[in-house]
Amino acid sequence: MELYLHIPYCRQKCLYCDFASYAGQESTMAAYVDAMLCEAKAMAAYAAPIETVFIGGGTPSILPAALLEKLLTGLRFCFDMPSGIEFTTEANPGTVTEEWLEAALRGGMNRLSMGMQALQPELLKRLGRIHQHEDVISSVQLARRMGVNNLSVDLMFGLPGQTPDMWLDTLQAALDLRVEHLSCYGLIPEDGTPLKQALDAGRLSLPEEEDERRMYDDTLNILSQNGFLQYEISNFAKPGKACQHNIGYWTRVPYIGLGASAASFLPTGTGGLRLTNPAAIRDYIAMADTQAWRRRERVSLLPEDARFESLMLGLRMTRGVSEADFAVMHGMTLDAYCGDVLRSQEQRGLLVHRYGCWALTRRGMDVQNAILVEIMEATE
Ligand code: SF4
Repeated sequence: MELYLHIPYCRQKCLYCDFASYAGQESTMAAYVDAMLCEAKAMAAYAAPIETVFIGGGTPSILPAALLEKLLTGLRFCFDMPSGIEFTTEANPGTVTEEWLEAALRGGMNRLSMGMQALQPELLKRLGRIHQHEDVISSVQLARRMGVNNLSVDLMFGLPGQTPDMWLDTLQAALDLRVEHLSCYGLIPEDGTPLKQALDAGRLSLPEEEDERRMYDDTLNILSQNGFLQYEISNFAKPGKACQHNIGYWTRVPYIGLGASAASFLPTGTGGLRLTNPAAIRDYIAMADTQAWRRRERVSLLPEDARFESLMLGLRMTRGVSEADFAVMHGMTLDAYCGDVLRSQEQRGLLVHRYGCWALTRRGMDVQNAILVEIMEATE
């Protein structure tokens, strides 16, 4: 079972961000940590031994060290968390301090994921990021000095005003950090964000589709030349450094999510139950205060939903969807579920069948959504 903790605080809201993250609510942090510990106690009964922990946000690195320590200590009373399991925290450059890192390391953190996003100051400003590249370098150096030996950096391509050459410089700057893992996400302008409004109003424009495809192709080539293995559409790791928490998510390992907007996934037969917390910090704290856990949104997954989810998540990984795992999880073979459509997509060069798994080809990655729609329609 996996454990996810959501820290919904940020110094400033980035202009492209539609996550549950809030600026200017630091005064609620102490009550929020208490609420998370309260939820941890309530969820302990459902938990098997924890295999991975991931603290995301928001910006976990702006949680004061004393509160982080209280949270991580309290969790150990609720969950069976063997020492040495993969334990990631996200952090943002410019907010990472020695004190915070010490608290995180004492609490079991052994992997740090840092939001670099872009190299050029003008792009960082356009995204509403609070840091400069010098902050990324100093935060990485500090983490290394403190003993963090598994580091990941997030980057974004397809940004307004970004050229393929700017992306190449960004990739090189990330490689110069000598990290073990890189996540490279294409920008998806989300409704309701200031960035999307600026694009809709014509104040900004995205790179041409051809340039964006070139950025992705350059990513695959350059990272491979530098010893990174692609294990998911957007994720690349040095051998042995793929993020086990994310792989668990893509293979439908059950998880408990604590905090505002966090979801838990608990298996029930061949379907599952998904519980989602309220997104607003005050609503989440109020729910914990009144022990009103029933107010969480509950969605029961039917077996057919669970089968489709296995395809939707599993095809993100380069190894693809395992026929053996699918049969064990769903009590039905992948062939019986959608073999005809998989074979048809294989003939069109979109999927490949190897080592007992179905995976996207490079062409298939570009049209992943269309592939999933076809599978959905064929299995309805
Ligand atoms: S730092 Fe991350 S979570 Fe916070 S506003 Fe920016 S993108 Fe959103």
